[in-house]
Amino acid sequence: MNTIEHWINGSYVPAGERTAPVTNPATGKVTSEVALASVEDGNAAVAAAKAAFPAWRDMSLTRRTQILFAFRELLNARKGELAAIITSEHGKVLDDALGEVSRGQEVVEFACGMPHLMKGSYTENASTKVDIHSVRQSLGPVAIISPFNFPAMVPMWFFPLAIAAGNTVILKPSEKVPTAANWMAELWKEAGLPDGVFNVLQGDKVAVDTLLTHPDVKAVSFVGSTPIAKYVYETATAHGKRVQALGGAKNHMIVLPDADLDLAADAAINAGFGSAGERCMAISALLAVGGIADELVAKIASRANALRTGDGLRGCDMGPLVTSAHRDKVAGYVDAGEESGATLVVDGRTIAPDAEGDGFFVGPTLFDNVTPDMSIYQDEIFGPVLSVLRVDSFDDALAMINANPYGNGTAVFTNDGGAARRFQNEVEVGMVGINVPVPVPMAYYSFGGWKNSLFGDTHAHGSEGVSFFTRGKAVTTRWVDPSHGGINLGFPQNA
Ligand code: NAD
Repeated sequence: MNTIEHWINGSYVPAGERTAPVTNPATGKVTSEVALASVEDGNAAVAAAKAAFPAWRDMSLTRRTQILFAFRELLNARKGELAAIITSEHGKVLDDALGEVSRGQEVVEFACGMPHLMKGSYTENASTKVDIHSVRQSLGPVAIISPFNFPAMVPMWFFPLAIAAGNTVILKPSEKVPTAANWMAELWKEAGLPDGVFNVLQGDKVAVDTLLTHPDVKAVSFVGSTPIAKYVYETATAHGKRVQALGGAKNHMIVLPDADLDLAADAAINAGFGSAGERCMAISALLAVGGIADELVAKIASRANALRTGDGLRGCDMGPLVTSAHRDKVAGYVDAGEESGATLVVDGRTIAPDAEGDGFFVGPTLFDNVTPDMSIYQDEIFGPVLSVLRVDSFDDALAMINANPYGNGTAVFTNDGGAARRFQNEVEVGMVGINVPVPVPMAYYSFGGWKNSLFGDTHAHGSEGVSFFTRGKAVTTRWVDPSHGGINLGFPQNA
């Protein structure tokens, strides 16, 4: 069986004793096994990143950026290969996999502007004949720990900027989808990146803990579920690192009575069932305001029933869930929703998928008359389960969103500019869509949620990403003329 190994210092490093199976979720078949790093493997990856750092930091911005451009060209030309790998391990349909690669590529393109993004500033005569300037410098080896649901895009939220800014990287991908990271490592080598600048450490908690506590790792970018994000934030900050840890989500979409209900129904389908709901920006709670729920639920149900679920390589609309355990968990939530009295309008447990073998499928599932006390509302299900809650007013809907412990993404559907403006102003969520159901910011803005959806204060990519992967230094300069001098023990003051 094929073993997916670590990539350290520009070449593959074989697995040790511990491995885990990797499955094709559409067929249920084990396709390979992945190395699970030991502490020693983790130390070797950090040592490689540390050794590569001084030369990479000191390479001119022009040459560093040329390697970024080369990576971008190779990625653009060969993104179909990466998308096929994503579909075979994650399960999302091929178009969607291509979409995630394209969104990741946009961060590479943004990072190509690093010579401009890293520029400092200069002030002449801040005090008499004293000048001051600031520079932004790289940090050293940085760790990126990513979730299963975006094997390419989430690592690309971070590593293009980290590398362009002169840092070296250890990427720890999810053990459920390990191949994309190695594919990108090989692409970096082809683009001319020196060995040791980009390393891949395959593994589980052992690998993560080694990176969180290693004294030579200077920063950690994490994306995953809220309990692990909190753990990563607390552990890595306790070890003196800067940390951005993006967590889970429960995203709400409000539909106001004046909205175009066909547009809203299309949006609910796309945001609820795209990638089988395994997106941190998926909509899982739809708040139908006023008397529109009957009509809106009927429109969503007819669309959901028309979706084709199956193998992501067969042109279906929706693929499987990532593992059999996750399929069972999602199906368990559907059982719980029924038992708690919600109206099951579309039941995804009973579909016949278009796939060979025994894949991990749950079809699109729609509940109506959901109430806030039900587990299908309270928990992040991370599956194709959309809950409709009937709400009396805009104020009630807004209050419900603001009372939720998560604050990743949200959307309002309306033709009322005043309502939309109030929503944008008052909602306690990091990413807001106005008639846009999945408001993922562009690479030159920053991606991140509020509350339990992010630990730390820095969002991913955009200007916040540049600032995360660099640190500032202010330099005050005086070139003394021969007449200048004198002793003064007071605190420096401007004159
Ligand atoms: P996860 O938390 O299980 O795993 C994320 C990473 O942490 C993986 O690399 C995994 O190997 C590692 N890990 C798992 N358990 C660990 C432990 N006990 N100690 C140390 N490391 C551990 O998340 P997942 O299931 O891979 O991804 C889905 C979750 O990620 C969802 O909650 C989703 O909302 C979230 N997510 C959030 C965003 C965002 O931008 N906020 C984006 C994508 C996914």
